[in-house]
Amino acid sequence: MTYHSNPTPPFVQRNTNTQSNTNTQSNTNTQGQVAPSGYHYMPDGSLMLNSEHTIDKHAALAQLIEGNKRFIQNLSVNRDLLNEAYTTRAIQTPIAIILSCIDSRSSADIIFDQGIGGVFSARIAGNIVNDDILGSMEFACAASTARVIMVLGHTSCGAINGAIDDVKLGNLTGLLDKIKPAVNSVLIPRNPVDRNSENPVFVSEVTRENVRLTMDNITNNSEVLRNLVNDGTIMIVGGVHNLSDGTIGYIG
Ligand SMILES: [Zn+2]
Repeated sequence: MTYHSNPTPPFVQRNTNTQSNTNTQSNTNTQGQVAPSGYHYMPDGSLMLNSEHTIDKHAALAQLIEGNKRFIQNLSVNRDLLNEAYTTRAIQTPIAIILSCIDSRSSADIIFDQGIGGVFSARIAGNIVNDDILGSMEFACAASTARVIMVLGHTSCGAINGAIDDVKLGNLTGLLDKIKPAVNSVLIPRNPVDRNSENPVFVSEVTRENVRLTMDNITNNSEVLRNLVNDGTIMIVGGVHNLSDGTIGYIG
């Protein structure tokens, strides 16, 4: 088998038109350039992903939920990953972008049973957002095919525990500061003695609140994503991954 290096298609627009637009799309542009496989040119010369490669946000979420069900039942798809690598070499059509923690036990691709090309994975300790992660989400949803943004926290999160206990360590200190609003917005227990990482109820509430605040930060700080939510193209979903059994407790 010969592996050709295919150029990554340039910045493209996502085709939100679910109706056939065969009257206006073309495989070549006015300069005679041939569109990459899976793409077509619009009359204005822009390159657009073919509609058969995009799916609805509800279908995308259903695929993630089904993938997690397979994982927790130990029925993950027996994948030929090398073949998946080859078949996705020229075009990727991920259904979602999942923002999860860097924790080695909380890999979104695995716990949602997605193969190569299945989802965009954004990972950072404590699954918070910053400008760069928002930009990555904008690429995933506005320039590519992601229809779901999932913010995924997890149980036994060292970043959550560190923020609760006010850990200081180099650059980590600044990252944990971004989790502090979640710590501060959980008001119970009031007694400072009980507000530490040894309190499992408090830790659980902060974990959930951190996911909620991250979801809010996405729409508050990205006009691109806010518009895609408001026009119904994408949805933002939260969840907490239980490390013990692989289940997801969905939020909102
Ligand atoms: Zn974590």
